[in-house]
Amino acid sequence: NREWHLLSRPVGWPKPEDFALVETEVPTPREGQVLVRNTYLSVDPYMRGRMSAAKSYAAPFELGKVMQGGAVGEVIESKAEGIEVGDHVLHFFGWREYAAVDAKNAVKVGPTAVPAVKVETQDVPLSAYLGVLGMTGLTAYAGLLRTASFKEGDIVFVSGAAGAVGSEVGQLAKLLGASRVIGSAGSDGKVKLLVEEYGFDAAFNYKNGPVAEQLREAAPDGIDVYFDNVGGDHLEAAIGSLREGGRIAVCGMISVYNNTEPAPGPKNLARLIQTRGRIEGFLVGDHYDLQPEFVQKVAPWVASGELKYRETVVEGIENNLEAFLGVLRGDNIGKMIVKL
Ligand code: NDP
Repeated sequence: NREWHLLSRPVGWPKPEDFALVETEVPTPREGQVLVRNTYLSVDPYMRGRMSAAKSYAAPFELGKVMQGGAVGEVIESKAEGIEVGDHVLHFFGWREYAAVDAKNAVKVGPTAVPAVKVETQDVPLSAYLGVLGMTGLTAYAGLLRTASFKEGDIVFVSGAAGAVGSEVGQLAKLLGASRVIGSAGSDGKVKLLVEEYGFDAAFNYKNGPVAEQLREAAPDGIDVYFDNVGGDHLEAAIGSLREGGRIAVCGMISVYNNTEPAPGPKNLARLIQTRGRIEGFLVGDHYDLQPEFVQKVAPWVASGELKYRETVVEGIENNLEAFLGVLRGDNIGKMIVKL
């Protein structure tokens, strides 16, 4: 078994020396556990937060120990009732090849899963449970519908729009009746994908010019909803373009995750007064009650191709770290997945 350990807490951008790929024994499952051979590992921006010691909603990774993250794998030994050898499960012991997982922390996915899920999702590949129908998908759904109180006719702006969460936010908004959807991303190729494949009404490359100017051009009538994945000048620009009663769902602020100094704050905050605008942070972990509704509603759109998704797949446990760093750099289109 090979697994990734955190050796030291990164300062600024994580460096390879902060991590080690360590060889260990394959774990032996105890009573009530299953042994899983991981087939897909998730790498996500929030993991950067867990590499720091600072207190947050998720506990810091421990130094000298294996890191954690979403994963899907095949059960190769079972000491738990209700899960058989050959079943596929979603669990939280990524960054490693093999994991002994308590059955209560493993959710069956794929063809042998509980009928309610099976009927809706059997046509999707297992990696989808880490992305479009998994945690990042639910983040898009809950953040848009619940936190941003999305309603038909809204003009929606989403940053990080070619990523896992952002690409789903934009398309869900379209499918649910947004009057205009605008996205921003970090390359001309990504911008083209947003407009030509995902059906965004407008998109811009934030590296090509000031965000506020590009947003005003793309959304001349302003925006009702901003789904923030980025923070910084994107957030400032969005407040500047907010219409009366506008809502901002603060999902992530990836532009500051590797900063060593606090970023300067947005200058437009007083505008929230005149617009009666609402800005609100949210954590997907508080919204798992929406998971069944989310899968019921979105899985058919995924299966029919009405909701498109891309994955950027990196192969091999030895490339797990590089894949994670790639997400922070923007190497990915859609969900970044590691395939073992
Ligand atoms: P993505 O698939 O969107 O990957 C991250 C993307 O961020 C990169 O592809 C890159 O694309 C972009 N990016 C990196 N640096 C910058 C920068 N300085 N400015 C603008 N964009 C940048 O990741 P996820 O979909 O998994 O996550 C998206 C956001 O949602 C993150 O902020 C994450 O922390 C947050 N999140 C929050 C959750 C919650 O519960 N609140 C749950 C899950 C995710 P590009 O080429 O466009 O720069």
